[in-house]
Amino acid sequence: MLVRPASGKKMLWQELLRHELLTALEQQPVVIVPVGSVEQHGPHCPQDVDISIPYHLAIETADAIDDFPVIVAPPVTYGFTHYNMGEVGTISLALETFIAVLCDVSRSIWANGFHRLILLNGHGGNEQPTWSAAVKLAEEDVWPVALTYWNMAPDELLAWSESDEGSIGHGGEWETSLQLHLRPQLVDPSRAVKDDWRLKFGPEVGRYAHFPERRREMAHGVMGDPFVASAEKGERLFRVLVDRLVALCHEYHAVDPRNTVSLAATVREHGVASARIGVDSCSLPRGTRPCTWGGSAHLADRVKSVSHLLASSSIPEEANKSAVTPP
Ligand SMILES: [Zn+2]
Repeated sequence: MLVRPASGKKMLWQELLRHELLTALEQQPVVIVPVGSVEQHGPHCPQDVDISIPYHLAIETADAIDDFPVIVAPPVTYGFTHYNMGEVGTISLALETFIAVLCDVSRSIWANGFHRLILLNGHGGNEQPTWSAAVKLAEEDVWPVALTYWNMAPDELLAWSESDEGSIGHGGEWETSLQLHLRPQLVDPSRAVKDDWRLKFGPEVGRYAHFPERRREMAHGVMGDPFVASAEKGERLFRVLVDRLVALCHEYHAVDPRNTVSLAATVREHGVASARIGVDSCSLPRGTRPCTWGGSAHLADRVKSVSHLLASSSIPEEANKSAVTPP
């Protein structure tokens, strides 16, 4: 599932060098954490549908924004999906474990100084738990924005549905379309089946009252109609979702979240220490596009001024080291 943008732009948290993270910190970066699940998606789709979609959305969004850094954190691949255990392939976390993982990941990113954080969820069972994690974190002044991708385009989903009436379903019209757009080689349409929705309340009451899912009770573990899925529909929806996420990142970048005492401020205050990690971007691996938000000119200036400071600095080396050690 691990993909990089075709452009080669560096954006994956785990691949960035330390000086690139520090440079990003000075430019009001946004970090996106894709959140998903590994679970059965009917006989025709792979197990990682729900993490692959937010992951691709995050990468496309980061690739589309050059004005400021958008960094994609390692995805939270496992989710809360006990009700899919009835079919082979599902791996679920306990609810408490899932929320604890989201909270620990968010706290860590926040503690590194990144205070614009999006938890981008792609699995229905994670929706309320992801929001709960965000609310829990807010109590300690860690403020991620939690959202589930299909809620970014409810009108389009409803207007463009041929069968599933605006629902993202499960291996149905829309998830299958998105997979056909993103990863057609992993879909086997010859195995597709259609399951009827199982209404527990009538259509009117069912609009506002629901049971939580227990064991998924569709005959084939599918919700919706994959026979009306197409790569073209998947691409159309994907483009709208990327546009919405790009808009969110721009607004998020522009706001000033509370408690912005960040590592960047520490680095500014003890700027001389950044020489320890200052490397010109020409040393990046061949064929990779450097972070456009940390261009070589900027870094070259930084290294030059830091080198000058170093030459005249009387700050002990150990003090420099502690000044840039992330909390
Ligand atoms: Zn799904």
